[in-house]
Amino acid sequence: MGIVEHRFGENVLTTSIDNLVNWARKSALWPMTFGLACCAIEMMASGAARYDFDRFGVIFRATPRQSDVMIVAGTVTKKMASVLRKVYDQMPEPRWVIAMGSCATSGGAFKTYSVIQGVDKIVPVDVFVPGCPPRPEALMYGVLKLQEKIQQEKFLRK
Ligand code: SF4
Repeated sequence: MGIVEHRFGENVLTTSIDNLVNWARKSALWPMTFGLACCAIEMMASGAARYDFDRFGVIFRATPRQSDVMIVAGTVTKKMASVLRKVYDQMPEPRWVIAMGSCATSGGAFKTYSVIQGVDKIVPVDVFVPGCPPRPEALMYGVLKLQEKIQQEKFLRK
């Protein structure tokens, strides 16, 4: 270690590409603005002044082409399923999904023919946030869990 320390001098940090890329990705999560029902109100509150999602680097975007996270907030009806999938397909890789609330995770109280019983039937979900509705703190915890997950990803396949 001594040789390495003296060779590069001060203000030099050694790390892996995985660490660097994952740190950059997890520190700038830009969710697609996409609310489907009442849970979306809590999602909006998360972005407002009291909870201030910006401090985590979470900044909502109005287009899937600039987003890397989809927060599915609300009841997913069969009518909306194809639209949701299309928006997901328009997001660039890498992309992640958070299912927010009982409806998005399992259909919630709506065990009916018109409601998808969990958005994981349409898109791959990385984090499930339970509750009806989950408070902004719960969504925040979900984002922190997603950041932990991203930090473990392998950028270069071995
Ligand atoms: S989980 Fe509850 S609050 Fe969220 S969309 Fe469903 S009914 Fe509304």
